[in-house]
Amino acid sequence: MAGESKYIHNALKQVHLETSCTTVNGFSISGLATYLQFPELDFVVDMGECPLSATSINHVFLTHAHGDHARCLMRHHSLRKMMGVERDSVYYLPEMIVDGAKEWIRSEAMFEGVPETKFRLPEIFAAEPGKMVSLKYRKDLTLKPFCVKHSVPTMGATLFLHKRKLKEEFLGKTASEIIELRKNNVEITREVYEPLLSFTGDCLGESLIQNQEIFKSRILVTECTFLDDEDEAMSRKKGHTHLQHIVDALNKFDDDITCEKIILTHFSMKYSERHIREIIEKNVPEKFKEKVIPFI
Ligand SMILES: [Zn+2]
Ligand SMILES: [Zn+2]
Repeated sequence: MAGESKYIHNALKQVHLETSCTTVNGFSISGLATYLQFPELDFVVDMGECPLSATSINHVFLTHAHGDHARCLMRHHSLRKMMGVERDSVYYLPEMIVDGAKEWIRSEAMFEGVPETKFRLPEIFAAEPGKMVSLKYRKDLTLKPFCVKHSVPTMGATLFLHKRKLKEEFLGKTASEIIELRKNNVEITREVYEPLLSFTGDCLGESLIQNQEIFKSRILVTECTFLDDEDEAMSRKKGHTHLQHIVDALNKFDDDITCEKIILTHFSMKYSERHIREIIEKNVPEKFKEKVIPFI
């Protein structure tokens, strides 16, 4: 029923969504392209296409090497140069794909006729699961990658807002008391990491269960390639999530879920927008209906 509309999706026609901490601009349909720009966080997830709106963003995270997520990585780098952006972006890649990416980037440059002496790799950072790293140009944002299960090596990550807060015991103090404490070198603040954004990359539904902490992020972006009942077996075979797996996770974690929005991406191109909205409306439990939003 949804099959007749497979050619309507347009990867350069961006979807826009407002959240309490950032706008989300981009596109994500399985096999065509995925790129999700979070301009207020100076951050992009994946680069399956590179519209001009992505070129001003300094940090790019690639979840995995599949073409619909990765193919415009170098386009991002070269478009920035063309537009006179002097600062190099930082490209965060799962450590398992870094060597392959470097070879690919070099081959592409040679193919384009760049002289060996002029070739220079962009700044690539090897993301390791569990290892926290501050974004190069946004020291208030800290990235914590995690592994997910897909048909190729893939990582998601959580982006935390890193700040210092007054310790509980000093909350009632006056300004002059605080100044006095500071003078006496008393440590009055503590470090706080507030999870703003989690994204999973392409993954099996079980990866949601294995990474339960992503449901504590203000914004969760997770893939939902398959929707129809008869596609459940296909989702496991291809290493993707079926809507039913998301519903299962919602029911399992229930009140522990503190996300403000759960954004579903990467729908199979065989589904029409209308079909996607209808199936989600029909299957998402009532208490999560306002939180769960299809990115279409
Ligand atoms: Zn994909
Ligand atoms: Zn993939």
